[in-house]
Amino acid sequence: MKKYNFGAGPCVLPREVIEKTANAILDFNGIGLSLAEISHRSKDFKPVMEEAQQLVKEVLDVPEGYSVLFLGGGASLQFCQIPANFLVKKAGYVNTGAWAKKAMKEAKHFGETIEVASSADDNYTYIPKGYEVPSDLDYLHVTTNNTIYGTELHKDIDVPVRLIGDMSSDIFSRPVDVSKYDCIYGGAQKNLSMAGVTFVIVKDDALGNVEREIPTMLDYRTHTKKGSMFNTPPVVPIYTALENLRWMKAQGGVKTMEKRAKERADLLYGEIDRNKLFRGTVKCEEDRSYMNICFVLNDEYADLQDDFFKFATERGMVGIKGHRDVGGFRASCYNAMTIEGVKALVSCMQDYEKKH
Ligand code: PLP
Repeated sequence: MKKYNFGAGPCVLPREVIEKTANAILDFNGIGLSLAEISHRSKDFKPVMEEAQQLVKEVLDVPEGYSVLFLGGGASLQFCQIPANFLVKKAGYVNTGAWAKKAMKEAKHFGETIEVASSADDNYTYIPKGYEVPSDLDYLHVTTNNTIYGTELHKDIDVPVRLIGDMSSDIFSRPVDVSKYDCIYGGAQKNLSMAGVTFVIVKDDALGNVEREIPTMLDYRTHTKKGSMFNTPPVVPIYTALENLRWMKAQGGVKTMEKRAKERADLLYGEIDRNKLFRGTVKCEEDRSYMNICFVLNDEYADLQDDFFKFATERGMVGIKGHRDVGGFRASCYNAMTIEGVKALVSCMQDYEKKH
């Protein structure tokens, strides 16, 4: 039976990217050695790092003056690396859910941290809007896609201070105006690669403004100066990122990714809104995520929760259980999810409706 991976991350990647990674692990570029065995400083690996960095710039249209880094530690380490490098006196955070809260918690170790806006009052079912950003902030931090709650900031906002974005779960799903941000970061294990590498796109002249001593590995300048090769980088996930970036480019880049994401989301939200059994959890329609589509059973059908999960699993739907903070179901539709996969889920929901 064909399986469709709706997991929230690590998640579905293009099959050819997986195959190329597997081949490189067996024999890299025909050199008779595995990609996992060669030195990151070898003449064989260096072009991988350089092309991957270059393709991030090309695919996202990154302006001059930014560096692309591939680091370890996940987005979670960035939660403290960001304030270590950018927080002088006061940082502002938009609280749109669990990941934003975790980011804010770490910033508190480095200085005053304020919540500029929040959607906690309604269990993060919308993205706050119309809030004022104090001009004395060192930066404003936003989480552009809230993987758990299924809300997404579809446009890059204008703010009077440095803007920093956690784009772990929506990077490469739409064109981004990188010039609006001083730093964009995320764990790669959604739209870029397998788990194990973290991407950082940082504006070079925004660095070096804090007086604190930054531990070597946490100082972005350590990595920008060394082309992201200060220490041993995660070579296999970087190679997967490279193959995935080549795939994205060949498909037509982020514009194509955005078009496909909208098609998938329209189809699935359309069914959620139509089907008598289900409803979406995000209250504000314009904030509905294209990447993580969250829905629950309507109250009168709530006892069908486990049964629908079993029904869907038997039809090949993988990873659709909602996060425990939201409940219900979450169909994550990252770049490599096909429209065929979403059609299969929609027909599964329709067949289940007919039974009730
Ligand atoms: N930020 C967001 C929006 C996420 O979705 C996740 C993980 O899913 C993280 C941060 C944490 O990423 P990591 O597991 O790479 O630390």
